[in-house]
Amino acid sequence: MSLNFGRTLMSIPGPSVIPDRVLNAMHRPSPNIYEGELITLTESLTPDLQALAKTTGDVAIYIGNGHAAWEAALNNLFNAGDTVLVVSTGRFALGWGGVAESLGIQVEVLEFGMHAACDPIKLAERLKADKSHKIKGVLTVQTDTATSVQNDIAAMRGAIDAAGHEALFLVDCIASLGCEPHFMDDWGVDVMISASQKGVMTPAGLSFIWLNAKAAEARKGANPSYYWDWASRIQPEYFYHRFAGTAPTQHLFALREALNILMHEEGLENAWRRHDTFARAIWAAVDAWGSDGAISHNIVDRNDRSRAVSSLRTQPGAAGKIRNWCEHQGGVTLGIGLGLAQPGTPEWDRQFRIGHMGHTNPAMIMSTLGAIDTAMKACNIPHNSGGLEAASQVIAAHQAS
Ligand SMILES: *Cc1c(COP(=O)(O)O)cnc(C)c1O
Repeated sequence: MSLNFGRTLMSIPGPSVIPDRVLNAMHRPSPNIYEGELITLTESLTPDLQALAKTTGDVAIYIGNGHAAWEAALNNLFNAGDTVLVVSTGRFALGWGGVAESLGIQVEVLEFGMHAACDPIKLAERLKADKSHKIKGVLTVQTDTATSVQNDIAAMRGAIDAAGHEALFLVDCIASLGCEPHFMDDWGVDVMISASQKGVMTPAGLSFIWLNAKAAEARKGANPSYYWDWASRIQPEYFYHRFAGTAPTQHLFALREALNILMHEEGLENAWRRHDTFARAIWAAVDAWGSDGAISHNIVDRNDRSRAVSSLRTQPGAAGKIRNWCEHQGGVTLGIGLGLAQPGTPEWDRQFRIGHMGHTNPAMIMSTLGAIDTAMKACNIPHNSGGLEAASQVIAAHQAS
């Protein structure tokens, strides 16, 4: 008989666990969309979204997932025939490049493989070689959710500057926003995009583009479509222009509540520190379990690891057994390996991911690790003991601000 009769937990890297308060904020009738609370509530989101990205630049909200923000950013900045450079450290920047190709944009890829961050020196070399400045944009992710690598965005900006290149710098922070430090203005990011369903703790269906003056200027040279054009969303003549149609009413109530929690109750810097502690707790568990090679980190260098998601590797077959036991007996859903191997191949069942982004606390992190620990015992997967002990020591040592 299964033991799985309690509340289940999602530990996948998005959609993440939504706070009950955020869910409850949605449970209300549709509001007046012409005047009153919805309009003031929507306007109140802008300063919090700017503070979330650490920018004074404008922000546009789209009804759509992260892919919508990918397409919107490209549609506002580039024309068919333009060239962009995709800096790939996993799967997601390539996905963005695929959207660019579908719009007729020429895509060049600077590839760093599935186990490493972008090397800024190689980025600078590639841009220096582009003497005619054919490359109009550099597209990358802060955190790649497949490999769980975290790129050094400030260093990448430094590489673009060192090459004296004028390309726009576009960064996807869908996995990292609200979880890992990001300073859009200080780091010189021209366009930053994110979505609601990961660190922002809101149901999937909203995405965001933040942009600086350089990006606003570049838009004038492109020919954005009615729907994707960010200008009317940022400076709407009528409220319905903000969403090119009906506002995502209940989603906006949800987002307001999530930002209340993240920006005004916990505080962004505290959220970053919390994610750092939980990530280090998970790493400590993996190091203890896997000192004989049973389980290991996809990203070896700690400095290059995400604090929002961990991509892990096991002996052949073990990852699939762990995920399966956790899903059907343990009450926790873990992430599948993504992009690291093809389904059905022997490598496929050697990868899994733990999402530790957004609405998390020590009990949730220890529950996920406890289920994995139990799964390894139940499935006779050789591992060293001490993983849970190592994780709880890291959490216990968390320094309050
Ligand atoms: C989740 C994710 C996406 C895709 O977002 P969707 O909402 O599924 O379109 C893109 N980039 C990164 C880094 C992500 O983590």
